[in-house]
Amino acid sequence: MRGQGAEPEVVDSDVSTGGAVLPPQAARLSFDAAALADNWRALDRMSGKAQAGAAVKANAYGTGVDRVVPTLAKAGCRQFYVAHWREGPAVMAHVPASMISVLHGPANDAETAFALATGLRPVLNSGQQVERWRAAGGGVCDLMVDTGMNRLGLADRDWGDALNTLEIDTLLSHLACADEDNAMNMRQQALFSQAITAIRHRRASLANSAGIALGSCYHHDLTRPGLALYGGVPRSELDGVIRDVVAPQAMILQTRQVPAGATIGYNATFTAPADMRIGIVSIGYADGYLRNWSGRGVFCHEGAVLPVIGRVSMDMVALDLAQAMQLGEGDWVTASYRLPDAARCSGLSQYELLTLLGQRLHC
Ligand SMILES: *Cc1c(COP(=O)(O)O)cnc(C)c1O
Repeated sequence: MRGQGAEPEVVDSDVSTGGAVLPPQAARLSFDAAALADNWRALDRMSGKAQAGAAVKANAYGTGVDRVVPTLAKAGCRQFYVAHWREGPAVMAHVPASMISVLHGPANDAETAFALATGLRPVLNSGQQVERWRAAGGGVCDLMVDTGMNRLGLADRDWGDALNTLEIDTLLSHLACADEDNAMNMRQQALFSQAITAIRHRRASLANSAGIALGSCYHHDLTRPGLALYGGVPRSELDGVIRDVVAPQAMILQTRQVPAGATIGYNATFTAPADMRIGIVSIGYADGYLRNWSGRGVFCHEGAVLPVIGRVSMDMVALDLAQAMQLGEGDWVTASYRLPDAARCSGLSQYELLTLLGQRLHC
């Protein structure tokens, strides 16, 4: 709560701490802005004659919209996508509303009014959304057509002349299988080409990150990478092109000697095979470091490899410090989080590995 009644406006931390200075956080997300910018430039280059935009929904896939959007804007990105209307203002803090499209479209009067008041551009996804936008006297919009994914968008039977009264900036569709070599990609591309002929528009956009790697007939005027901006590698063509952008880092809270035969952590799933020195680290599943990593994850410190042992707790993990016996309380370690490898190791998708990174890491 801030600035209530006659009280002078104060910053949140002063209110909650009575003026005490908050100590630095004990877990954080490392963020490489240069790598993010390089990834966008690489994807823009690979998009050929098309321009690359950026999907920044879900807090830029969990990586932090307040650092991602300015970095991408500086690199040259001019089109941003969020899913929800309520995600718009955080992006508008950095770029004009006219560069931001809202993928879920206007679902009710409140969202339509918000679009008109802010200038955020709706992606119209259904006949009802088209009617709602027209009835509100809405101007420039985007239009999503379905080409086989059966998620959002107008089906081909609804691509009639009535749409030509809309002021469509970007005509969009979305690929269901771009990360695979699947005949569906060509079918979707062919149907999208029919939409391009049938519906008047300024720009056409089909490809997500993986779609960019499918080649020039998928590029059209504008591409919409998300995952690969943040270090995801959805297709092998992007291997060696895409750089890592984020990694969870956390502080060692305590070290301890564990005698051979003793167990470590919840449910005593790990038994020390010999005397061990372990570190208890300040990150857990409440930070998005899920229990999938129990007994499988790895942290690093200056080249030393520190395996996760036993179960991941809500706020802590235990590491085997055998390779870095000098580490102690207050030292920091970094999770091995290269997305394609982390996905294989954890069983989570690269998308989940990013988007579940918790609020705490952003404090
Ligand atoms: C999220 C999203 C993207 C980005 O997809 P990636 O696979 O992350 O590159 C592009 N287009 C639409 C419609 C999306 O919802």
